[in-house]
Amino acid sequence: MPETTKDQVLQGLAAEIRSCVRCPLHLSRKNAVPGEGPSDASLVIVGEAPGRNEDEQGRPFVGAAGRNLDDLLSEAGVSRDSVFITNSVKCRPPGNRRPARSELDTCHPYLRRQIEAIVPRVIVLLGDAALKEFFPESSLGQAHGKPVKRGPTLFFPTYHPASVIYNPSLKEVLSEDFRKLGALVRDGTV
Ligand code: SF4
Repeated sequence: MPETTKDQVLQGLAAEIRSCVRCPLHLSRKNAVPGEGPSDASLVIVGEAPGRNEDEQGRPFVGAAGRNLDDLLSEAGVSRDSVFITNSVKCRPPGNRRPARSELDTCHPYLRRQIEAIVPRVIVLLGDAALKEFFPESSLGQAHGKPVKRGPTLFFPTYHPASVIYNPSLKEVLSEDFRKLGALVRDGTV
């Protein structure tokens, strides 16, 4: 039997996610947002949850936070087309509230299976929810901008690009973190 390719695994997962009814977030979503990017990406970016624009379009990071992310990736010298972008929960929480712990836990296997298929060298964790998916005891204020190696994977936590919309003072902190990320990716130490 032919081997299942990474593309096929990700497409199968995306189909599962689009029809998923495992947690209450399916009740209010227009579109689930599985994520997008090449199946052989060396860098995976994990945000918190889809927002209104993402829910409308079924694509990750297409609203204001997405524009901020594009700018940050550009500062890092990383092409958006080369990274796989997804979220900790794949359906929009009503009113853009934070996802509940039970919703994060229910959705987590999809994220885990995406990462297992892609096997990225680097996973960028945007914001507290994404950080706590992998490092439940960590705080973002302490952890941001500090890469952590776990097995073959380098985790890089930083703030969520949407945080700049509400707290402009974080803009330079995020820029600095992304420049550091760009240097790590470029110098090949990960
Ligand atoms: S958030 Fe995740 S677990 Fe909940 S319905 Fe959407 S895909 Fe399923």
